[in-house]
Amino acid sequence: MSIPQNLTILGATGSIGLNTLDVAARHPQRFRVFALSANQRIDELAELCLRHRPRYAVVANAVQAEVLGRRLESGATEILLGQPGLERIAAHAETDCVMAAIVGAAGLVPTLAAARAGKKLLLANKEALVMAGPIFMEAVRTHRATLLPIDSEHNAVFQSLPDSFPGDLGGHGIRRILLTASGGPFRETALEHLQNVTPDEACAHPNWAMGRKISVDSATMMNKALEIIEAHWLFGATPEQIEVVIHPQSVVHSMVEYADGSVIAQLGNPDMRTPIAHALAYPDRMEAGVGSLDLARVGRLDFATPDLVRFPALRLGYRALREGGTSPATLNAANEVAVIAFLERRLPFLGITSLIEAVMNELPPSPLASLDDVLRADAAARAHARRWIDAMTVRK
Ligand code: NAD
Ligand code: MG
Repeated sequence: MSIPQNLTILGATGSIGLNTLDVAARHPQRFRVFALSANQRIDELAELCLRHRPRYAVVANAVQAEVLGRRLESGATEILLGQPGLERIAAHAETDCVMAAIVGAAGLVPTLAAARAGKKLLLANKEALVMAGPIFMEAVRTHRATLLPIDSEHNAVFQSLPDSFPGDLGGHGIRRILLTASGGPFRETALEHLQNVTPDEACAHPNWAMGRKISVDSATMMNKALEIIEAHWLFGATPEQIEVVIHPQSVVHSMVEYADGSVIAQLGNPDMRTPIAHALAYPDRMEAGVGSLDLARVGRLDFATPDLVRFPALRLGYRALREGGTSPATLNAANEVAVIAFLERRLPFLGITSLIEAVMNELPPSPLASLDDVLRADAAARAHARRWIDAMTVRK
């Protein structure tokens, strides 16, 4: 029997983190939970540590460490702190596989640390790749990390590509990538109502139960904008080779179109345990706890062209990708600030994309040569976005 792989989960208490633990726990002979991290939900992290007995747990600060330490009493789990702790569990010599499931820019440095340590890296944290695309992919290549996409669309594309795919769409008989998008909860909401929608309405996704940030991103379709940029870096696709198709049932997770007109799609129930199990087991297959797709019950699969008036985020995603350099990092940072402000009811729903566009207009892109360039662009965009929100609040 082979030795179980040591699994590190960055962001274990989140939606992806918990789904990963669910899948891994079905295969104790294949995976051992080696390290877990959480930012706020220390009670949940304590429960997870008691159940999975990881070697390490990472929390944000000393107060949380003390609370966790008291809950764990026995010394089975060592508690580490903050970004250095996250980097340590991501790059630890005994870590075989890292699930990068922290939400947003906070995940960039530890996810990059896993790439630089040459790990098998399961990427849910798309923001990290969007912000730092060229630096991230260079780290993956140089350190021979195995990068596997967890985002359902990118995982579907990955499954629909030929096994011999060398990481670049050019010259392999591939025409396009078709990214499907459910259209979120507001696909058919009257435009005049969008100004007044609440955070809870925005987070009520019709097909997927996810964290609040990505749920809002799905409602604005900024999630798809980030995914366009993600597809560019993962698959070497040009903006012209990436098309978004609205597909409300979320059964076709995405497609690859070949030069001969063939379109290969990956289908399944909308359950993140499928892409997680695919990546964990890759190149094998294993049980994920996901039921069979009942196509007769689904009945029909609909497709439509996205409405760019309703969803200006898509236009901004293509713009950031074409501009390159720091532009995707600016887009991402402005979005993170805008989403938090919306969730705190300091910004109306339609203000999210207006704010991002304003910040992109104010901060022209510059070249990205290092992680410092990324972090500077991120900080500048956040500062601009906060000033924009403050100015708007004063005007009210
Ligand atoms: P979530 O909000 O449910 O969980 C986020 C996790 O990150 C939590 O464990 C939290 O403790 C941790 N975290 C948050 N802020 C942190 C910080 N500042 N420092 C350290 N840790 C921090 O989010 P989620 O829905 O699980 O999404 C996680 C990532 O996966 C996101 O990048 C999202 O875009 C991506 N993703 C999620 C889904 C999904 O179905 N949920 C699908 C595709 C991609
Ligand atoms: Mg997705």
